[in-house]
Amino acid sequence: MASAVFYRLVPLPPSALAIPRHFPQTRSVLDSPFTIIGNLSHPHERFHASRELQTRLASTIRGEVRFDSGSCALYATDASNYRQVPIGVVIPRDAADVEAAIAVCREFGAPVLSRGGGTSLAGQCCNIAVVFDFSKYMRTIHALDPQTRTAHVEPGIVLDRVREAAEQHHLTFAPDPATHSRCTIGGMIGNNSCGTHALMGGKTVDNIHSLDILLYDGTRMTVGSTSDEEFARIVAAGGRRAEIYSGLARIRDRYAPLIRERFPNIPRRVSGYNLDWLFPENGFHVARALVGSEGTCVTVLSAELELKPSPPHRRLVVVGFVDAFVAADHVPAILEHKPIGLEGFDGMLLDFMRRKKLAEEERALLPEGNGHLLVEFGGWTVEDADRQAENFRRVAQSFTGNPSTRLYSDSDAKRIWFVRESALGATVFVPGEPHSWEGWEDSAVPPEKVGSYLRQLYALMSEYDYRGPIYGHFGQGCVHLRINFDLETAEGIAKYGDFIDRAADIVVAHGGSLSGEHGDGQARSALLPKMFGPELIQAFREFKALWDPDNRMNPGKLSGPAETYSPTENLRLGPGYKSHRQETFFQFPDDKGSLSEATLRCVGVGACRKQDAGTMCPSYMATNEEKHSTRGRAHLLWEMLEGDTLQRDWSSEPVKEALDLCLSCKACKSECPVSVDIATYKAEFLAHYYQHHRRHLRDYAFAFMDKWAHLASTIPGVTPRLANLPLQLPGLSHALKSILRVAPQRRLPRFASHSFQSQHKSSRQGANPAQNQVLLWPDTWNNYYHPQTLAAAQTALEGAGFSVTIPRRHLCCGRPLYDFGFLPAARRYLEHVLKALAREIDSGLPIVFLEPSCASVFRDELRNFFPNDARAAALRNQAFLLSDFLVQHAPHYRPPSFAGQQIILHGHCHHKSLMRMNAELELLRRTGANVTLLDSGCCGMAGPFGFEREKFDISQALAERVLLPAVRQATSKTIFVADGFSCREQISQNSSGRALHLAEILAGIPRMPAE
Ligand SMILES: Cc1cc2nc3c(=O)[nH]c(=O)nc-3n(C[C@H](O)[C@H](O)[C@H](O)COP(=O)(O)OP(=O)(O)OC[C@H]3O[C@@H](n4cnc5c(N)ncnc54)[C@H](O)[C@@H]3O)c2cc1C
Ligand code: SF4
Repeated sequence: MASAVFYRLVPLPPSALAIPRHFPQTRSVLDSPFTIIGNLSHPHERFHASRELQTRLASTIRGEVRFDSGSCALYATDASNYRQVPIGVVIPRDAADVEAAIAVCREFGAPVLSRGGGTSLAGQCCNIAVVFDFSKYMRTIHALDPQTRTAHVEPGIVLDRVREAAEQHHLTFAPDPATHSRCTIGGMIGNNSCGTHALMGGKTVDNIHSLDILLYDGTRMTVGSTSDEEFARIVAAGGRRAEIYSGLARIRDRYAPLIRERFPNIPRRVSGYNLDWLFPENGFHVARALVGSEGTCVTVLSAELELKPSPPHRRLVVVGFVDAFVAADHVPAILEHKPIGLEGFDGMLLDFMRRKKLAEEERALLPEGNGHLLVEFGGWTVEDADRQAENFRRVAQSFTGNPSTRLYSDSDAKRIWFVRESALGATVFVPGEPHSWEGWEDSAVPPEKVGSYLRQLYALMSEYDYRGPIYGHFGQGCVHLRINFDLETAEGIAKYGDFIDRAADIVVAHGGSLSGEHGDGQARSALLPKMFGPELIQAFREFKALWDPDNRMNPGKLSGPAETYSPTENLRLGPGYKSHRQETFFQFPDDKGSLSEATLRCVGVGACRKQDAGTMCPSYMATNEEKHSTRGRAHLLWEMLEGDTLQRDWSSEPVKEALDLCLSCKACKSECPVSVDIATYKAEFLAHYYQHHRRHLRDYAFAFMDKWAHLASTIPGVTPRLANLPLQLPGLSHALKSILRVAPQRRLPRFASHSFQSQHKSSRQGANPAQNQVLLWPDTWNNYYHPQTLAAAQTALEGAGFSVTIPRRHLCCGRPLYDFGFLPAARRYLEHVLKALAREIDSGLPIVFLEPSCASVFRDELRNFFPNDARAAALRNQAFLLSDFLVQHAPHYRPPSFAGQQIILHGHCHHKSLMRMNAELELLRRTGANVTLLDSGCCGMAGPFGFEREKFDISQALAERVLLPAVRQATSKTIFVADGFSCREQISQNSSGRALHLAEILAGIPRMPAE
């Protein structure tokens, strides 16, 4: 094994991970243009004046200043392998606020780090610095001009918001990272990001017109391309700007021959500073020279983006080769056909997806092969796009080895892109595979050399006993890998260091770039001398020093006065890491029985920070706060269990606060690419938290609602009416809500005068009772509040040929108990169900549920409590939602006709997350109605959540996102279907109509007219 050339390959012990460290300087600094403080490699780590800085910031700026341990823990990592606890966090309101805050930081000599979505993969977005989070407030589009094809935006705006605005004019901001739903323009400028369509529109650097920037010394200026006249004017004017411009010209002139010689001329050179943009033929483009500087030189306050026309018609052809290497060999031939996107993946990725049951239907659409290339063509007319795709497909069929090909319709093309976009999720937490990590994930070579590069890289990987699937931007020579590095032992980390050192040699030998997409950050900066040579490293240092002579901007990343951080230090796990084991109520069977392992699932991709579609994460959508995102919560829990920045203490208030707004919707369990399951972690945390804290009366009132409802229904027709009295009389109702801290605007649901159980008559036995029996689960909500839905379900099931029984006794799944962390009671409830229904379970009787949140207990929590219990496993398999049951067990069932009617379906979060809406949609469509599934996310009621006084506003904000506007826009003939009791409550408490349960549709019950 060759030994690596960068510094300090033996990393620090884990105990040193979070505290500022003082390394001896290990290398002399030749001709350093920097002020070197003491003899420390990273003197910025020695910042001591946090408290004073916090006070000054808080009294100076209008934005938020957060220096508490919870906020620091929250921003300690990005999507990389690294972790550095910041000094504090500033959330500026606008550019003036940033200027004021930087001035205060300067007064104290505090290092600063800009942050957008925090999805960086190379460690450039964590540091011991004051973090400026631009994503909460600074996300305005100041102007978008279709004539000049430019947009002027703030740095915290998410890319997709810019693209949506541009699309209204048939324009786009061309660079499209896979994180387009949450990455910010500031972060894209920082990293010089790009994606699939870089083939068509280039990288971020190719699409920046000008930048409004702020230097650490307070200088603010707008930079862009610079004509000779302008350059002369700037220099003549003198001052800091003149100093910088003449310094840049000096660097360019001094290093021009080397830049021309050593900067690889490939589409994806992302490593290093963009000194080539200072050449005259590139317009002395100072803004573009700063793109990719990873927050190490300036803070971007706003950007003028260039927009490009985007061909409206797309066609996708997929070619399936024998393996990814052969696929890569065909890249040059395919590029001759001028596709606008050329992506690829290998057979191992598909195998991992198979094992994770990811994109099952979508994968089936792929042609045969073990290495696929996705070739996209764009046209200004349908005919043009069709012609290009057809021509290419014909040619591709005659490629060596006669690969299989397939041309897709628009809708199927979307499904194939979904396979490609699921790639990162597919590579982590694969059953039977060790953890895999970024670290060698985005190198790029000339496109014509990808095949050779991959073969050599794979040979090296097998020498090191590493594996990982390949996917990425084959058309631009940039491939992604997530490799099973061991980042938890000293030997493993040293081996990783060796490996990347040798892998870098392979890239350099192929004329490539160490980073072709994600930037250098900490993961690659120490390797840059291999790629650029010592003189250009010196040029980078001079460039950095010109902007930031005191090295206060993201110090130690990409380039620095002495040395940058080594790829093997500041690791989030690091040598000797052991996930911290605690006694837990849940068993966490998919995470080695450990909550800590479970929280490690979050690799920071930030998909929970999207705001436009799906359900995850409703609380982030409502607040734009990292701590209310799935990622923020997972990180905070991990930090708490590690007991470093946060105390290892189940009483942790920062964690409690972050979990408080989690609606336990379980959307993250399915929408998060690595199935982070915050609802479960929250229940576990609360169970421990309340071992040491007193609960409020409300917790008991809501969590044990089944018991109160059962009690209230003791004498049908009498006791429910009595129990309703306090809910009906305004004074009493007000007092009750006040005692229970229920939002005064809410109406507490009323008990039905007769529960379903009290009225139910078992079906007459069908012709073959053994085969056609089902047990209908009388859940608390439908049984005691909406018995008509259970009656309707019985009608529908009997209509489909089943005889229906219901349990005589009161049974409850215990769903509300989880919301409050009553886990011992929740376990007892399930034990009781397993015992009470032992005979039915053992005889294989299907159990049909109407309420998705109850069915989900048996699909999910039951296994987490009893992973090895055969009866629990059987019950899990026998639990069906009404729609799933009918579609699977009564394929010929025909529901009543609603032909020509409009049905709008709002899916319950647990239904969407754990069971999927396919069967529900199929049944509703069988009625002949025109059915629309709303992309409404969470209704906001989410069990008790929406009733709680302090959560009312968030609950309403979530409902107002999509659901309530859709209810208001519906005509009087539209039928709303919502299977969740809470969802129906949210609709009825905010409108004059009411939604129906699917069972009512299937029983032919017409829509109730609006009152
Ligand atoms: C699953 C996954 C897939 C990815 N796919 C791609 C891909 O296809 N293509 C791609 O290019 N990248 C990809 N990335 C990397 C990353 O998402 C992109 O680089 C993204 O553009 C970063 O945006 P962000 O807002 O998260 O930036 P951050 O991570 O917040 O910041 C990125 C850098 O920019 C700096 N910065 C942020 N704001 C400013 C500012 N106002 N002024 C100065 N500097 C600033 C930061 O200091 C940091 O160095 C992927 C990452 C993940 C996790
Ligand atoms: S359960 Fe829902 S609200 Fe809670 S973190 Fe997951 S997605 Fe967000």
